Amino acid sequence: MTKLSCAHCGIHFTPAPQVPNQAYCSKPVCQKERRRQWQKSKLQSDPDYRDNQSRAQKAWTDRNPEYWRHHRLNRTDYGNSLPGEQASDALEPGSQSVKLDSLNPPQILRDESPRISWRPVGLSCDLGLDLPG
Ligand SMILES: [Zn+2]
Repeated sequence: MTKLSCAHCGIHFTPAPQVPNQAYCSKPVCQKERRRQWQKSKLQSDPDYRDNQSRAQKAWTDRNPEYWRHHRLNRTDYGNSLPGEQASDALEPGSQSVKLDSLNPPQILRDESPRISWRPVGLSCDLGLDLPG
């Protein structure tokens, strides 16, 4: 059987009969590279695919804004909690407001919770008085 030279790592390998024009060997790193190259050429040759990808990405970030916020906060925390640097960084005003934000619920939630807890009380009173019989 003919042997081919892997387009990524260059070793000689026996191509699988069911894969025509196989250019990469079966090593995971080379298969990863193959997918990367495929996606790259796909992005260049297919405007629809590119549009779809960026739209999907945007839709996802629109649905998950918290992910990016937490992601950023975590990174900040990692930076601030290095041993030895804690004392000086704790006084930094920027890092403190970030910590407060992550501990407290958003303003809207705090405003609505009293109303929600009041309503059942009023309702149960009204129902008790208005029930026929
Ligand atoms: Zn390879």
